[in-house]
Amino acid sequence: MTFSVAVRMADPALAAQQLLTEYDETYGLGDIPPVPVTDIAESLLMLDIVEENEIRALPGAPTNCGPLSGLLTTADQTIWVDRREAQRSPQRKRFTVAHEIGHWDLHARRGATKTSECACARDDIREDGGTHKREREANEFANELIMPKAIISTLAPELGFNLALLAEHFDVAVRALELRLIRLDLLPSWMRS
Ligand SMILES: [Zn+2]
Repeated sequence: MTFSVAVRMADPALAAQQLLTEYDETYGLGDIPPVPVTDIAESLLMLDIVEENEIRALPGAPTNCGPLSGLLTTADQTIWVDRREAQRSPQRKRFTVAHEIGHWDLHARRGATKTSECACARDDIREDGGTHKREREANEFANELIMPKAIISTLAPELGFNLALLAEHFDVAVRALELRLIRLDLLPSWMRS
């Protein structure tokens, strides 16, 4: 039997679930949400997380795609996060870190690309898609990592679809939570605007 590239390339949501399982078996996930995104990066994957004033000024970072929200450099296993965005919104930082973990897990660790760096513009890191395939995959991974379908689909009805309360539980922005529910087709029709 030969394994095709398709087999080696993981489904983003499935890969996120596998990573959560891996963390659980090693450190114990405990009572989630919120998912310990920082510790998954630092303890399980040995990735450093560094806030940076101007990611574009880093050696090797592209300067032609606008302001960068995040960058993964594989040689030194570092996730760079835009400092201003991180300080403005810790939830945005969480999503950016989860997105870069996605690049590490899907695109670097699995050897699916020879690219040693993943640079992510502001519009690349978003809960509702992404322009390029690799960015969409990293976003799908991040969504499942931070708001696992199995948990959100149970908790959302339990908490009466109280978006603010759910967002607090998952430590995400309210809009991110709402988009996740919409994409999973979990938001009741009477709540849709
Ligand atoms: Zn990206």
